[in-house]
Amino acid sequence: MENCIFCKIANGEIPTSLVYEDDLVAAFNDLEPQAPVHILIVPKEHISSALELTEQNSSVVAHIFEVAAKIARDMGFDKTGFRLVNNCGEDGGQTVQHLHFHLLAGRGLQWLPG
Ligand code: AMP
Ligand code: ZN
Repeated sequence: MENCIFCKIANGEIPTSLVYEDDLVAAFNDLEPQAPVHILIVPKEHISSALELTEQNSSVVAHIFEVAAKIARDMGFDKTGFRLVNNCGEDGGQTVQHLHFHLLAGRGLQWLPG
């Protein structure tokens, strides 16, 4: 997808230090962290939002949850917990139109922020 910042990060067009990468997903630090650890996990395939998930592409979401658990465990947050968030659409607070999950950890989180 042309001019999609997360496509460019995920395919290496914009150099970023990736926290995790495999054939399906990339994970990198959020530019404006809302917690001591704030990582974005995105599919390499361009999917605009949760509304664009279908029977054909939705397995990547299960994979993202697996990757989130792996990252959290590797960083020791299996002991303290973490939050995995997807924002969808305007009222959901989605500002980048490429499906992504926020992995937030390292402090107690309120419900709901913002
Ligand atoms: P959302 O508001 O759920 O769409 O989340 C978009 C997130 O992407 C925000 O938390 C931004 O801080 C973050 N963000 C935007 N551009 C970049 C970038 N180039 N690198 C890392 N994070 C970014
Ligand atoms: Zn994209």
